[in-house]
Amino acid sequence: MENENKTKKYKIEDGEHIGEVIVSWIITHACQEKCAYCISPVKKCEITSLEDHFKIQNQLIETGLTKNRYIGGEPLMVPHLSKLIIDAHEKGVDTRLSTNGILLTKEKFKELRNYLNSIALPFETCNDALNEQIRNTKNHREIITSRIDMIKDAGNIGLLINTCVHKENINELEELGYLLNEKGIDHWKLRRFNSASGRGAVPNKNRFEITDEEFYYIVDKLKTMYPNLKIDGRMPSKLSTRLMVSPQGELYRMVGSEEENISYGNILTKKLNIKEIYQRDKCN
Ligand code: SF4
Repeated sequence: MENENKTKKYKIEDGEHIGEVIVSWIITHACQEKCAYCISPVKKCEITSLEDHFKIQNQLIETGLTKNRYIGGEPLMVPHLSKLIIDAHEKGVDTRLSTNGILLTKEKFKELRNYLNSIALPFETCNDALNEQIRNTKNHREIITSRIDMIKDAGNIGLLINTCVHKENINELEELGYLLNEKGIDHWKLRRFNSASGRGAVPNKNRFEITDEEFYYIVDKLKTMYPNLKIDGRMPSKLSTRLMVSPQGELYRMVGSEEENISYGNILTKKLNIKEIYQRDKCN
């Protein structure tokens, strides 16, 4: 394995995040996929210019940001995303890219690999037919496993898998866990399906919903089966303490449906101090 001895740029997070100021930047709601559990709203008018994206990023960094999660939609659909990630990393910010993997080609990875602390990929099942049924795209397993191998080969980037747990994949997770264990994933985050908001999730409430008991049962079972995998089971309520930036530049927290979001204002028009807000509202 290439670069195996490089120092790992990712430390497993304990959930407390002491001393950190973390933001999840939904840089776009655009995406090539149409996952039936998607919690992103339908894409509206978004900020697209490099200049405005840098204004947002600079203000976040200048007021105390320590970790930036570039999420979506599919963040790699923003043409200048690499410039933002490279700049943040060079300023000492811990960077994570959360991507569906489609645009994370070898060339793109080469451009970004020295500037990312971790990469998060979505993976719900090893079953190709089921992946297609859930995501409405083909080859997801093939894409994700090839990206896992490419990232593992770099040796020093944290690798996380996000899995939305719902009625259609809950019986597939033991097999998925086996694969993730074999691949040496750093962190497996399982999140219970949330129907409160999203272009996929709201209309598919009845199709996917599971109970808390069903969710915790499978998470505990997977922890017992794969003790070497760092497994986290998260309820949708965990999202409510996370500071997010919308594709329009709004700083907010997601506490339920879109209408219930707690908004702090727009970063492009209001002098928001990210560290003050993060600490005052006990975000993590
Ligand atoms: S959940 Fe699927 S459709 Fe929604 S943003 Fe992620 S990859 Fe795209």
